[in-house]
Amino acid sequence: MTTSGWKSIATALRRGLRKRCPHCGEGQLFSGWSFFESCSVCGLVFARNPGDTWAFTILGDRLPIGVMIALIYFGVVRSHPVLGVTMLLVVAALAIWTTPNRWGVGIALHYLSRVYWPDPADPIPPPPATGP
Ligand SMILES: [Zn+2]
Repeated sequence: MTTSGWKSIATALRRGLRKRCPHCGEGQLFSGWSFFESCSVCGLVFARNPGDTWAFTILGDRLPIGVMIALIYFGVVRSHPVLGVTMLLVVAALAIWTTPNRWGVGIALHYLSRVYWPDPADPIPPPPATGP
């Protein structure tokens, strides 16, 4: 893949992480705990079908849960109760705190899959105009 290809992937993921539209980087993805259907700036439809971003969202949600299971499985909670419970609480707090960011990355990953495997029935708006 070309350097610009990798750069556009990194840009889309960074925009998702910042809870912005992966296409133009301007529009908001979320209003509180729900995400908008489309971008208010460029008109990109974030998820044409409900559940399009489901697989990516599940992946993002499973990562912190996997860490918590590992902490319990390897006996950190049993052998060092205070440290173990503290680590569990920290991971749980981080998981909740970063939820919109992980959802944003999920939307960005879904967007990238549409850029690289285009579907004529699911058009992506023209590239945002770059400033003069
Ligand atoms: Zn946009």
